[in-house]
Amino acid sequence: MLSIENVKSAYGRIEVLHGVTLHVDAGEIVTLIGANGAGKTTLMHAISGVQPITDGAIRFAGERIEKRPAHKRVAFGISQVPEGRQVFAPLSVMDNLKLGAWSCRDADLEPALARVCALFPMLDAILETPAGALSGGQQQMLAIGRALMAKPRLLLLDEPSMGLAPNLVDQLLTVIRALRDDSLTILLVEQNARAALAIADRAYVLETGRVTLSGPAAEIQADRRVREAYLGI
Ligand code: ATP
Repeated sequence: MLSIENVKSAYGRIEVLHGVTLHVDAGEIVTLIGANGAGKTTLMHAISGVQPITDGAIRFAGERIEKRPAHKRVAFGISQVPEGRQVFAPLSVMDNLKLGAWSCRDADLEPALARVCALFPMLDAILETPAGALSGGQQQMLAIGRALMAKPRLLLLDEPSMGLAPNLVDQLLTVIRALRDDSLTILLVEQNARAALAIADRAYVLETGRVTLSGPAAEIQADRRVREAYLGI
C-alpha cells in the first residue's frame, strides 16, 4: 500500500532523513520506533505531504505521491493523527470532526460521523463541548476520530500514547487493533516501544535519519539491541 524508497528530507541545509526505505502492506500495523530526534515525525510529515522531500520516492496504492500537496493526499486515502493531538481547542468536538471531513462530499458527512461516534461513544456524549476542555485521553480519541472522518485507507499515528495514563494506553491499543481488524492499514510512530511492538505486525527502527533494523515485531522485540536501547531490559 505504501512504499518509501530512499527518501531524504531536510530543514534548511540540515538533512535529517538520509535515505529511508520502508513499506507498509495493506492490513498491517507497522511501527516505527526510535529515540527523540531520530526523524520519525519528519517521515510522517513527508508521507502526509506537510514536509517536502529532497530525494527519493513515495508511492501509495501504486502511484507516486511525493509531489502531491497534503490535501490531495488526504483525499487519496492518507490521514495523519499528529503528535500532540493538535485538536482545535476553541471549537466543539463536532466541529473538529467536521473539519476532518473537509475533503469529503457533504453526503458522506453523516455516515462518517455516525461511524466515528460508534467507535468512540464517549465522543458522542460530548459533541458540543469545546475540544480544549477535554482530558488528554479524550483529545487523543478526538484526534483519531477527526482523522477517520476522511475515510482513510492508511492512518498515520504519531505518538498516540504520549502523556496518557497506563489504563488509557491499553484502551488506545485496543482501538488501534480494532481499526486494523476493520481493514484499516496503520503506520504507528511510538516512543513507547513496548506498547507499539505488542500490537504491530512489523517494525522498523529509525536512528538519526536511517533505518537500522527491520522485521516482524516479535523478532524486533527479541533483538538484544532493541531490548537494551528501547525496552530498558
Ligand atoms: P520526537 O520523538 O522528539 O518527535 P522524532 O524522531 O519525531 O523525535 P523529528 O521531530 O522528525 O524526530 O526530528 C528530526 C530532527 O529534525 C531533529 O534533529 C529535530 O531537531 C529536527 N527538526 C524537527 N523539526 C524541525 C524544524 N521544524 N526545523 C528544524 N529542525 C527540525
